[in-house]
Amino acid sequence: MAWGIQLSKLWIASAQPFPVDVKMLALEVTKQRFADPVGLVVPHGVNGIDGMLSRRVKKGDWCISYDEDVTVPGRINFTLAHELGHYLCHRQLQAEFRCGQGSMLDYYGEASRKMEKEANIFASYLLMPATDFRQQIDGKTITLELLGHVADRYQTSFTATALKWLEITSEAAMLVVARDEFVCWSYPSKLASSRRAYVAPGTPVPHSAIERVRAASNHARNEWCNVSAGEWHPSLDAEESVIVSDQFELMIFLVRFPAARVITHEEEPDADAFDAMMDTPRGFGWSK
Ligand SMILES: [Zn+2]
Repeated sequence: MAWGIQLSKLWIASAQPFPVDVKMLALEVTKQRFADPVGLVVPHGVNGIDGMLSRRVKKGDWCISYDEDVTVPGRINFTLAHELGHYLCHRQLQAEFRCGQGSMLDYYGEASRKMEKEANIFASYLLMPATDFRQQIDGKTITLELLGHVADRYQTSFTATALKWLEITSEAAMLVVARDEFVCWSYPSKLASSRRAYVAPGTPVPHSAIERVRAASNHARNEWCNVSAGEWHPSLDAEESVIVSDQFELMIFLVRFPAARVITHEEEPDADAFDAMMDTPRGFGWSK
């Protein structure tokens, strides 16, 4: 997180526009600071491996390679940032990192899971600085369309962008990703988490939500739909908005709990961002 914040500040201070050009940043910054810099960023044409970081023994430097055929918008930029995160944080530990959507979901051990999470956190902080993110949404009602515009600005995927919003928002909201009508994972904002909003992996998507998706005339809906308590939360009414991704047969629900805001509860001591991040580790096993 510290590296992500430091490099995004450097990017902003040098008056560069968004999105962050990770390739340029990786080549320039590592050349200035390290004896074993990133010497090459290049497509590798290997399906199934989104990104790779490997040491080049003869040259004494590192190569970041990536799958240029990935079709999800924003995936490549996030992958490059993820690999740069491995370079900055983990290159003393391994000479090669192979990262794909599969390996980010099916971890082989605690150590690699921790490294994947750290690389994702780095990418999130580098590409989507919180101050700039807040400026993009300030005074606007959050919608899937607005999050899509923000994702375009940073060249990040919709999912990574929505997760960033959930991290920084004071609203009670939750992202739920489902496949074949079962929940793959969910991620609540801080306030939603304090109200125990969470849907466990494997839980069936509420029947009424499936009906609403089927009834919708198009696959990208931006209007919020009121949903009674008992569907996404046992006691809170919700507002729901959904995107259906035909490519991966995913349903991505953004769920808000407006009533959670008006219920006063005891003041909690302000946790800093790092504590908040560590309190909600499950969110960073996302599929990009
Ligand atoms: Zn990785």
